[in-house]
Amino acid sequence: MKYADFYQRSVVTPEDFWRDEAALIDWNTPFSQVLDYSRPPFARWFVGGKTNLCHNAVDRWCATQGDKPALIAISTETNTERSYSFSELHVEVQRWAAMMQALGVRKGDRVLIYMPMIAEAAFAMLACARIGAVHSVVFGGFAANSLASRIDDAKPALIVSADAGSRNGKPIPYKPLLDEAISLASSKPARVLLVDRGLAPMRRVEGRDVDYAALNAAHLAAQVPVTWLESNEPSYILYTSGTTGKPKGVQRDVGGYAVALAASMKHNFCGKAGETFFATSDIGWVVGHSYIVYGPLIAGMATIMYEGLPICPDPGIWWSIVEKYRVTRMFSAPTAIRVLRKQQPEYMRKHDKSSLKALYLAGEPLDETTSSWIASELGVPIIDNYWQTETGWPILSIAKGIEDAPTKLGSPGVAMYGYKVKLINETTGDACAANEKGVVMIEGPLPPGCMQTVYGDDARFVDTYWTRNGDSVLYSTFDWGVRDADGYYFILGRTDDVINVAGHRLGTREIEESITSHPNVSEVAVVGVEDKLKGQVAVAFAILKDANAGTLEQDVMAVVDRQLGAVARPARVYFVTQLPKTRSGKLLRRSIQAICEGRSPGDVTTIEDPASLQQIQRALL
Ligand code: ATP
Ligand code: MG
Repeated sequence: MKYADFYQRSVVTPEDFWRDEAALIDWNTPFSQVLDYSRPPFARWFVGGKTNLCHNAVDRWCATQGDKPALIAISTETNTERSYSFSELHVEVQRWAAMMQALGVRKGDRVLIYMPMIAEAAFAMLACARIGAVHSVVFGGFAANSLASRIDDAKPALIVSADAGSRNGKPIPYKPLLDEAISLASSKPARVLLVDRGLAPMRRVEGRDVDYAALNAAHLAAQVPVTWLESNEPSYILYTSGTTGKPKGVQRDVGGYAVALAASMKHNFCGKAGETFFATSDIGWVVGHSYIVYGPLIAGMATIMYEGLPICPDPGIWWSIVEKYRVTRMFSAPTAIRVLRKQQPEYMRKHDKSSLKALYLAGEPLDETTSSWIASELGVPIIDNYWQTETGWPILSIAKGIEDAPTKLGSPGVAMYGYKVKLINETTGDACAANEKGVVMIEGPLPPGCMQTVYGDDARFVDTYWTRNGDSVLYSTFDWGVRDADGYYFILGRTDDVINVAGHRLGTREIEESITSHPNVSEVAVVGVEDKLKGQVAVAFAILKDANAGTLEQDVMAVVDRQLGAVARPARVYFVTQLPKTRSGKLLRRSIQAICEGRSPGDVTTIEDPASLQQIQRALL
C-alpha cells in the first residue's frame, strides 16, 4: 500500500481508520463511539469500550504462546539474566497485583515507582495496569528534590522502590534518597514496598516500609483477575524530561494508548509475535513505557530490559545481546550510538547481528555522521523517529510496515498516521510553504495514545499546549521545523532555544549545525548568553575530533560567518572534550546557559557526567 493513501484515510476519516486499528487489541466490552471531540482540545477515544493494558500485554498471549519468552531482564551491573515466559510473567504480575491490593491500593489510586531497571519494575507497572491503579514511574536517577515534587503532584498511596540501583559496578543507594524525598514532600505515602537486591543496607520505617520478599511469599499463588477499564480512564502519569522548564505530568488513557501502541508496533516497528525487541532506554522515560514494557508485549514479542552501560563489560555488550536473543528490532538514541562510535569497532564486529532487521533512533536530532556510520556497521535501515513524552508514540517517521519508502538523511521522516502536522509561521500564524521554517504543530484532535491532559490540571494542559486557529485548535510541540517538497520534515531545535542578538532571532540549533559542518568538529552546544550591548550573544562549546589538528576559534567562527552571516557568529567558541547531557542524551542547554551567566546550573541530577559541567566552568575562566 502507498503510505500516502494510508495517511490520508487516517486524517480524512479518522473514525473509520481507528475503528479498524482498534481491532488489533482485545476489548472486553466494545466501544460505542470511536471519538468524542465535543470538548476540544480534549479528545476521548473509543468511548464506552472496556479493555486493560495488562490483559493485552500478558494474559492475551498466555493461551497461544505461554511458554515463549516475554521479559528478559539482563544486568551487567549484577551479572544476572532472568527470562520470564508469558505464563511466568502472568504469575508474577498477579502476585504483584495481590501485594498492592493487600497494601490498600484500589482502582484510581496512584502508585509511584522509583526503581532501577530490574524485572520487578515492569511487574509493578503491569500490576498497576491490571488493577486500574495509575502508575507514575520516576526515573531512578532523580534526586530527592525532584522525587519530592513528583510525590506531591501524584500523591501516591504506595511507593515501590528498591535498596539500590547500580552504575558502572557501583551501587547507588535509593533508600536514603527516597526517605529524604518523603520527608520533603507534604503528601506522605501510606506504604512503601521495597525490593532488597542486597546491594545497599536499608533502614526500614516501622509501619510504613514493607519487605517485598516477605509479602510476596504470602501471595505466591495469587490469582487477580484484570479490572476492565473504560477506555478513557487514566493508565499512568509520566513527567516530561524538564529540558525546558518545570516538568509536566503527562496523563494517558487506557484504550487509546493500547491501540496506538499496537498500531505503531505493526506499522512502524514491524514487530511480530515470537520475535525479540530491544529498547535500550530506561523505564523512567516514555520510550521505556511505550517500547520496553507495553508496546512489544502487546505485540506478543519478547522484550529486553537492560541494566548497565553500553560499553561495559566491553563495547560489544549490546551486540552480544542481539546475537544471543536473536533481536529483530532495536530502539536506541543517537547519543548512545555516538558513544559506541568512539570505541574500537572490533567489539561490535565480532558479534553475529544477522537477526537484526532495523535500528530505530529517537530523542534528539540524528546527525548524518552518526546515522551513516551505524548504518554501514549494521547493514540495516536506520529509522529516525520524532516524538515526545506527550504523544507516547512517533509523530514523524517512516512507516516501513506500510510502505518501504526511503529515509532522508537528517530527517525523521513524514507525518505519521493520525497526526495532522502543521508548520506555522510564528509571526503571521499562517501555514508555511515548502522549505519555510515554522513551529511544528498538530491540529486537534490528537490521535489515540497521546496525552489526555496534564495530571490534575486541565487548565495547564489547555494553556501550555493549545492555541486557537480559526475553527480548529493547534497543539504545539515547541520545536522548529521545515518540510521539503516531498513532505519530509527536518527538526531545527526547540522554540525556546532561540536567542535574540541585537534584534535578530537565531535558532541555537542552526548555529550548531553550521559549526558541526566544520570538518574537525564532532559535537557542539550553542547557548544564548546575556549581553549588555546586544541583549544576547551566542556562545559555543565544541568538541574537536582531533584536538591536535590546530583548529582555532576563528576557524569555527569563519564557518558560521560564511553560512549564516556575521550576525550569527558566536561571541566565543570554547573547546571542551564533553558536553553536559542527561542520561537520556539531551543536552542540558539551560545549565550551560546558567553557568555562562554566572548562575547555578539548576537541577542536574540526571546528568551523565558532572565533570562536563566543570569543563564548561573552567573554559570560561
Ligand atoms: P520538557 O518538555 O520538559 O522540556 P523534553 O521535551 O526534553 O522535556 P521529551 O518529551 O523526552 O522531553 O523530549 C521530546 C523532545 O525531544 C522533542 O520535543 C524534540 O525536541 C526532541 N526530539 C525527540 N525525538 C527527536 C528526533 N528524532 N529528532 C529531533 N529531535 C527529537
Ligand atoms: Mg518537551
